[in-house]
Amino acid sequence: MQTHLLINGERVAGQGEAQVVLDPARNTELVRIAEASAEQIDAAVHAAEASFVGWSQTVPQERAARLLALADAIDTHADELARLESQNCGKPYAAARNDELPAIADVFRFYAGASRCLHGSAAGEYLAGHTSMIRRDPIGVVASIAPWNYPLMMAAWKLAPALAAGNCVVLKPSEQTPLTALRLGELMAGIFPPGVVNIVFGHGSSVGETLVNRDKVRMLSLTGSIATGSHLIAASAPRIKRLHMELGGKAPVIIFDDADLDAAVEGIRTFGFYNAGQDCTAACRIYAQKGIYEKFVAALGAAVSTLKHGLQDDSATELGPLISDSQRQRVAGFVERASALPHIEVVTGGKAPGDAGFFFLPTVLAGARQDDEIVCREVFGPVVSVTPFDDEAQALAFANNSDYGLASSVWTRDVGRAHRLAARLQYGCTWINTHFTLVSEMPHGGMKLSGYGKDLSMYGLEDYTAVRHIMIKH
Ligand code: NAD
Repeated sequence: MQTHLLINGERVAGQGEAQVVLDPARNTELVRIAEASAEQIDAAVHAAEASFVGWSQTVPQERAARLLALADAIDTHADELARLESQNCGKPYAAARNDELPAIADVFRFYAGASRCLHGSAAGEYLAGHTSMIRRDPIGVVASIAPWNYPLMMAAWKLAPALAAGNCVVLKPSEQTPLTALRLGELMAGIFPPGVVNIVFGHGSSVGETLVNRDKVRMLSLTGSIATGSHLIAASAPRIKRLHMELGGKAPVIIFDDADLDAAVEGIRTFGFYNAGQDCTAACRIYAQKGIYEKFVAALGAAVSTLKHGLQDDSATELGPLISDSQRQRVAGFVERASALPHIEVVTGGKAPGDAGFFFLPTVLAGARQDDEIVCREVFGPVVSVTPFDDEAQALAFANNSDYGLASSVWTRDVGRAHRLAARLQYGCTWINTHFTLVSEMPHGGMKLSGYGKDLSMYGLEDYTAVRHIMIKH
């Protein structure tokens, strides 16, 4: 198991305090890893800055070749990486291996190609006697901070566009789930020049805080909670750092009377509970039209109650644990407060099953009202609420009346209505008759408190570049 940091191409043990890394499905210790010291964080930033001179001058073809080599290495080591991810997050091995690893390699392949295809305005004479042209150049040292829900995928979403654009990166994975990022660092050390990628380990309040406040870090890229995002935005203000913020979500799922009910039930069983609901786009805030409400709640409760929780290697396992005991307590708190309300019915689940790991039973809460905490706040666990609505106008008002703006979905057979709602929903993504599915070519990112900046797609690559104007007097 890789426990070493990657600094300036060298794999080194952290010189800070040792931290325990757990298997959340068993509540057992996997390994202890020492955090990076302040001196090591400085060394990583310095190495990134020094390497930027050469790396930013490489041609896209060369950067693409290295990204493709990394994608191949990920494919070669896919079983091992999936095993580490599943042990460290508790998620089913099959999901990590078959869903996540191919998508992770694809992100590096996509940005290998994208790095060669940046576009902008045509060069031309916009002032007589002067030729203007646009450049898109890298920004410098990027500090990338990742969360615990999809550790390797989030590392890929951050590293691939930043490196493709010619930046150098210091990545800090979550203190709870560092194993795949550290192993990825080992693979990258053999592919990228020293200092282009550095990986440090440690808590947000210690290592993260020290890293993001370094003057030479010109851009911060965070995927994490709104609280952390807000803190980093404030902390970066004195140095005017460029920001890329992918924060929380509370996706509305609007199901009309005319929807394919079986498809909607199956969709929410899958997309509301994938990764134990620890997903910023999880289909968790359901609005069902009154004509199908009762039937839908009964069918969803029956479907969700068949979700099987269990250990990573059991091929029947559909639902893993939450990442930590404190996360489970947080989820249980939301459910307890919601179930104490007289209008809320616990259709299925509602409690922890009592295993050693940090499991929580998949839960459906019906009868929720628009102002209830369970409807307004991100739970980040296997819990969905269902709220009835009268008509299209009310559904749209309910859905948009939220501080979050990441993802949404509409379930209907009426094409006109689907387009009307897609045009008016204030979310970075709206799916029609599905939810959750992402592709490397299309952007992922939020509005409102869910943040700004795009992951994936050409937009993601552009976010890691500065637009520059060159003007030549004839
Ligand atoms: P978190 O904000 O607690 O931690 C995220 C990362 O930030 C971790 O690496 C943490 O160590 C670091 N961090 C914390 N405080 C810091 C500080 N002061 N300075 C620097 N770094 C600091 O979030 P989490 O609990 O790990 O992840 C769950 C959250 O992430 C949820 O709110 C979820 O919605 C969000 N998320 C968003 C997306 C998206 O694409 N929008 C994707 C996944 C997760």
